[in-house]
Amino acid sequence: MRWNDKPYHSLDFELKKRFGEKVYKIALDAGMTCPNRDGTCGVRGCIFCSAGGSGEFAARRTPGENTISAQLERGKQYFHAKNIGRHFIAYFQAYTNTYAPVETLESLYREALDEPAVVGISIATRPDCLGGDVLALLDRLNREYHDKFIWIELGLQTIHEDTAVLIRRGYPLPVFDQAVIRLRAISIPIITHVIIGLPGEDKSMMLKTCRYLAENGISGIKLQLLHILKNTDLVELYTKKTFDIPDMMAYIDIIISCLEVLPPDMVIHRLTGDGPRDLLLAPLWSLDKRRVLNTLHQEMRRRGTWQSRALSG
Ligand code: SF4
Repeated sequence: MRWNDKPYHSLDFELKKRFGEKVYKIALDAGMTCPNRDGTCGVRGCIFCSAGGSGEFAARRTPGENTISAQLERGKQYFHAKNIGRHFIAYFQAYTNTYAPVETLESLYREALDEPAVVGISIATRPDCLGGDVLALLDRLNREYHDKFIWIELGLQTIHEDTAVLIRRGYPLPVFDQAVIRLRAISIPIITHVIIGLPGEDKSMMLKTCRYLAENGISGIKLQLLHILKNTDLVELYTKKTFDIPDMMAYIDIIISCLEVLPPDMVIHRLTGDGPRDLLLAPLWSLDKRRVLNTLHQEMRRRGTWQSRALSG
């Protein structure tokens, strides 16, 4: 099969092809905030976002040493304790990682890019936080560190405006479109986050979001199951039973249909979700990630299908 053992173009496959071995991600907390929380475009954040700014797996910021180098070192030690990991991606995960003065950003990104074991950085942000100065910085660093990569991850979640308003995303779709055009112009690969199971969305709407991304030059996608996390505003909608949460097989059915409409070169960065165990209220079946992925692979084999199948005539 084209992608070794999987019926889709996994990130693991892509990284092994490029670096000859598995590459591990170290999630970082660079001490950012978010315009959707600090009052610039909102104060309560997206309704599904936890207090950790979607960065629960980032290295904890403790009163001790929290520089990017120190967090990377802790991350490396974690993997080395398991006797794995020579190459790493520094993942700026928590909150909005282009939302700071450009000098601050430059220093943070350089700190990660200068670490010899880091093969690239991935920066999670919002499309409305990519001004001309930030883009110029990314362009400059991308040229300077030509042996490493710089990715931008955009949390779009959906192309549907009604849903975007409901989840308080804080920007309309054209803002995302503009960011994509500008990032592509400076050759920065874009990974887009899409949430499966948002309130008010049915399977056809989720597929429409995937088809849209398939056609606009996105390099990679994270398909994430909607998680109901404690202390988020989503809990209220969930307890009022205003929307349904898919069971595992329904979720797998949607994921397979999404994969079928994505082009073969689009890298699949995620197919489930990593809900923090201590915060996750539902769906609890998602905690057994291995079971979800194994069942997905079995079901794709049973259906004889693969990523991009719907595009092949
Ligand atoms: S933009 Fe990201 S960090 Fe900000 S509230 Fe939404 S999910 Fe949370």
